[in-house]
This record gives sequence, C-alpha cells and structure tokens, in this order.
Amino acid sequence: MSNVFAPSHCPRLIVKIGSALLVDTDGNARREWMQTLAKDIAQRIQSGQQVMIVSSGAIALGARKLGLKNGGRENLCDAQSAAAVGQIALSALWAKLLAEQGLIAAQMLVTLDALEDRRRYLNFTATLDNLLAKGAVPVMNENDSLATDEIRFGDNDRLAARIGQAAAADGMILLSDVDGLYDKDPAQHDTARIIREVRKMDEAILAMADDKSRIGTGASGVGTGGMSSKLLAAKIADMAGMNMAIISGLHDHPLRRVQEGHGTIFHAQRGESRHKGWIGGLQKIQGQLHIDDGAAKAIAEGSSLLSAGIVRIEGQFARGDAVDIIDMHGTAIARGLAEYDVLDSARIIGRHSSEIEAILGYSPRSAVVHRDRMVTL
Ligand code: GLU
Repeated sequence: MSNVFAPSHCPRLIVKIGSALLVDTDGNARREWMQTLAKDIAQRIQSGQQVMIVSSGAIALGARKLGLKNGGRENLCDAQSAAAVGQIALSALWAKLLAEQGLIAAQMLVTLDALEDRRRYLNFTATLDNLLAKGAVPVMNENDSLATDEIRFGDNDRLAARIGQAAAADGMILLSDVDGLYDKDPAQHDTARIIREVRKMDEAILAMADDKSRIGTGASGVGTGGMSSKLLAAKIADMAGMNMAIISGLHDHPLRRVQEGHGTIFHAQRGESRHKGWIGGLQKIQGQLHIDDGAAKAIAEGSSLLSAGIVRIEGQFARGDAVDIIDMHGTAIARGLAEYDVLDSARIIGRHSSEIEAILGYSPRSAVVHRDRMVTL
C-alpha cells in the first residue's frame, strides 16, 4: 500500500514538517533528527525523486530566542517578531544539513496572496519548477512576519497542500506528532482506532477530526494545525490528484517509515487539471451564489451555472473572483470564478440567458460561472 510515495510512483514529493518535530520542549532545534530527515531526502533525490520541504517551527524557535511567553503566540506582534528571528535560524540550519548531504537548499517564503493571485501564483510555480529541475530543495514556510491575520494561512498543512498543488506534486507527506488519523480523538478515547487508508474524503472522515477549535490556537502549544487542518489539506490534495500521508515524525528517518506502512494514507481520487485544482483550493472566497435544484443537478452533470438557476447572491465580488455555489440545502457544491461582478450578477439572477443583453446592455458571457472555471466540491 505504501509505495505510492516511492520515487517510481511519485516523481515529485512535498514533505511538511510540524513545529513540534523541529523544536524540542526547551525551544531548541532538533538538529540530530533533522539530520536523519535530510539523509532520507538525499536518498530519495538520488533515486530520482524531486523533493520540496515546508518547514514550520519559525515562531517556536524564535520565541525561545527572544524569551517570549506562550511560545511567541501571545499576540500577533510577538508571533511576527518570533517568526523573523526563528526563520533565519531555521533556514541556516536547513541549508547546512542539506549541504552536508550534497544538496542545495532554496528558501521561499510564501503568503496566501502569492498563491491566490493568478499572476503571482504563475511566477511562483515557474520558480519552483526551475529550482526542482535544477536539483535544489525548496524549503518553504509562510512569510509569518508580513502576513496579517486576514491574509494568512495560519497553518502549514493547507499551505503545503496549496504549494504541492501549485507544483503539481504527486504526493504529500505531513510529518506530525500524531500517528495518523484516528476514528476518535485518541487522547480522549481508549478505543480509538487508527485509519490506515482513506479512499474517499466524505463527511464520515471529516467528522473524525473533533479538534475544530484547535485551528489557529495551537494543538501542542507550538504549532497551529490540528487534525482539522490536515483534513482540509487532504481535500485540497485530493482535488489536485496528490496522494497524502499523515505520519508520526517522532522517529529518526521518518521518510523510511512511510514505506513501512505506518501512518494514514489518503488516496487521491480526483486529479482535476492544474487550473481547476487551483480554483478548488482557493482560500479567499468573495461571494456565494445560491441556486435552485435544477441548476444543482445541471452542475453535478458537468454544466455551467446559468443566471436562470440562481436564486440569491451574497458577498462582494468582482469579475474573476472566487465564489462558492450553494444548493438549496445550504451545502457548497462547487467553487468557481465569477464571470460577472456582484452588481451585474444581481441584475440577471433568475433571468434567462437570452434576456441578459437587454438587461445589462452588453454582450453576455455564456454563463455566470463557466464549467471550465468551476470545480465541484
Ligand atoms: N508558519 C508557522 C511557523 O513557522 C507554523 C504554522 C503551523 O504551525 O502550521 O512557525
């Protein structure tokens, strides 16, 4: 089961490392462990796999150096200062450890906007492609010192999924301080069982993360991602056709253990085009289009969303912004890019396509959300 991450099946791999693995309880970097991981990475690169890293730990490490309370998460200003101090130390360490294995490290600090804005996203992807082709190992993190609350990922699980999707990676391994996905929270239930393989990201799976409150508050006190953020990452990965594993990194040579059947593997079922994968993983959603049953059925069958099927609009969006399409039960069934801004959309909802030109005074687009720029959720 576990060879989906072997170099032969997975030419391009992204590895995300949680803060709890990088920084020990005293706030020092876990250098020896990182060394074993760097060796695993070097081995994979030698066997022809391209590997990139998303490394957390900047805030945790910087907080220790600055002597900040609460792991540097007391307030935004502390967190941003901690990240500035921790990131430079973390980069230096990765550069050194990878160099010891004959590898070149390449630092990229990413913001949410850089991945949401199409033009900046394409620049980012081109650089990433180039670095990987040249054999460098991109080491990435969120640019925590600049990103403010409204425009940040906050957790590196989704950040890694977005980067993996941007890079068209085939697999993503989340190294964490948990063993994998359990059917119940193992900290609270003795009977909790680990799920070894997930083939469908359905409601039953999403319900297994009963740690929703953890997002943004810090699960183990040093990182922010709990199981919920990992499952959100799994959804992004699925849409991008990327297999994903959650595996404990509390052992040396953690990447070897992936081949030995530890952890939980999420098998990607979908694999949308790169463009649709990008749309599906967008984090900034500007509006909601509520639709009737007929339109919901048409979308499920692969059609575009026409004005006639829209009953209500919410939000503030410009043409090209991301909108969610909501059915009569209140479920977001699809996400796409709006062909009209909110004002024009509001004027044409419920109206037949043939009426649009007379209402708006200009030649209509063929749909409010075209199927080529829409992905079902
Ligand atoms: N970007 C944060 C850091 O480097 C970590 C975010 C997370 O915990 O997922 O400290």
